[in-house]
Amino acid sequence: MSGQREQVLTGLGVSYGISIGRAVCVENHLEEVFRLPLPAHSIDAEVARYHEASELTIRELTQVKMGELPGDMEDGLQEEIGGILEAHILLLKDPSLVGRVTARIRGEHVNAEWAVHRTTAELAEQFEAIEDDYLRGRGQDLHDVGTYLLRALQGISHHELSEVEGDIILVADDLPPGEAVRLGRHRVVGFAIGSGGRTSHTTIIARSLKVPAVGGLASVTQLVTDEDPVIVDGGAGTVILHPTAETLEKYARLRQAQDAHDLEQQETRHLPSVTLDGTQISLMANIDLPEEIHDAANYGAQGVGLYRSEFLYIEQSPKLPTEEQHLRTYTLLAREIAPNPVIIRTYDLGGRKLARELMNTREENPVLGLRGIRLTMARREMFRTQIRALFRAAYHHDVRVMLPLVTSVDEVREFRVFAQEIAAELSQEGIAHNPSLKIGIMIEVPCAAIIADLLAREVDFFSVGTNDLLQYSLAVDRNNEHVAHLYQPLHPAILRMLRFILESARQAGIEVGMCGEMAGDPRLVPLLLGLGLRRLSMSPRLVPEVKACVRSLSLPELEQLAVTCGSLATAEEVDGYLDRFLKQTASMTEESPLEVLS
Ligand code: PEP
Ligand code: MG
Repeated sequence: MSGQREQVLTGLGVSYGISIGRAVCVENHLEEVFRLPLPAHSIDAEVARYHEASELTIRELTQVKMGELPGDMEDGLQEEIGGILEAHILLLKDPSLVGRVTARIRGEHVNAEWAVHRTTAELAEQFEAIEDDYLRGRGQDLHDVGTYLLRALQGISHHELSEVEGDIILVADDLPPGEAVRLGRHRVVGFAIGSGGRTSHTTIIARSLKVPAVGGLASVTQLVTDEDPVIVDGGAGTVILHPTAETLEKYARLRQAQDAHDLEQQETRHLPSVTLDGTQISLMANIDLPEEIHDAANYGAQGVGLYRSEFLYIEQSPKLPTEEQHLRTYTLLAREIAPNPVIIRTYDLGGRKLARELMNTREENPVLGLRGIRLTMARREMFRTQIRALFRAAYHHDVRVMLPLVTSVDEVREFRVFAQEIAAELSQEGIAHNPSLKIGIMIEVPCAAIIADLLAREVDFFSVGTNDLLQYSLAVDRNNEHVAHLYQPLHPAILRMLRFILESARQAGIEVGMCGEMAGDPRLVPLLLGLGLRRLSMSPRLVPEVKACVRSLSLPELEQLAVTCGSLATAEEVDGYLDRFLKQTASMTEESPLEVLS
């Protein structure tokens, strides 16, 4: 063990579980690229530096392509990722790119970094302005190639995860969701991240992959060195650097206990989700990656309340999933969880889930930009592929469609016209489909909540997305650890909106559920049921605990609880009142779900 002293860092536990491994630090940020004028006698050496960086990058990419792809990846995906890497290698060798960069170094007497940066950015911009999807994708390839070259020139080497022995704890200041998927599937057993709140997409991905994670660890990459032994405790929100042998032993035991508890939790999957007074509460699963459907079934979820289909794209970008890929995925989900419903949310790209190859815009504030339904309606061809697959999947299974980031009735109507066109197209082609596909929307923007009564007349169901509803209502970035304390689910404004949304749905006679992270918090469940929610969708692992909570509650007192909470002035007051209620209920019902089984 290393001679350094044990150090405990406290952050935000964002994905439950304990992992023990060795640190691999990821620096995501390239240094600034400066334009440095060079004296004539240095030009040849600078051109040689560029060639060296290019050759190093080609060697690295070839190695990754030949041996580094995870073996359990689907064949199709293997092929596609191999194809992307091959395209990057070809670009790096492309005489036109090489010629332009070297001509720039020689012609403008500038450093290689500047020449690479300017040349790849100019070429990428030209490609991105082209309407054709394939050619626009080449723009992203050029950005990627530019980044590889700059990394090599700046001496930032890629982390070859395969070179590190044993389990890996990934330590990063920030980690985009796409990277988290890639790395989380690849021998990474824990994440320690500088940025990120509980509902950031990267931490949602960590939970999907069942990789313990702690976020909000300021300057974590400066405290850790590659290969340091590290423990991540996602439940407690702590990261322990240089643990002693004693600490390691303690956490190994804790991990065993947690695994055993997890298995016990799965045993409760057959228990009905019903309150003491006999009201059914439907507990569904939020799924980001198709493989999670097995967890959904094992933990007893009654359907999929949210499939974040954008990850289908993010995983294989810049390539777009084909209609058959969409159809295969939706059918797989529906089959595994039949006869329960599967709600597929259409691509919610843009915002932090950047999709540069789909967006030829640069946005100052992408969270308020071309995101969700706005982006897909602006890129109809890509959207058409997805909607065709949805109509087809719904022919055999209870598959429903849900639109993200809806802000107006116009958007719903426009979508309906578009969907009808597609259904007509499928009829003409003689392809089996369900023309009565149920159409629902996320309520996740304050304006949608405020016109919930008008929206309820236009759709088949609502699902309240509290992650964004809180972000936009409270003006608190869900990824920003500096304002995490202001991200208050119990803020009176949120409770008022929830009441109005639920009342609007009830009056219109449509179904309403909740799929934001609030829905999986057992502390909040009494209040949510009291407000009238009967459908909650959450990360699969949370279903047993929420079910145990549902089974211990009686609705009439919850309705009173919701009325009182709704009359309080601050989140803190609501929290205190809820706390007293929970303590009182706990002292009255001590029954464990496992006792019921025996
Ligand atoms: C939400 O906003 O609450 C939601 C469920 O969607 P996402 O977390 O994917 O933005
Ligand atoms: Mg959202």
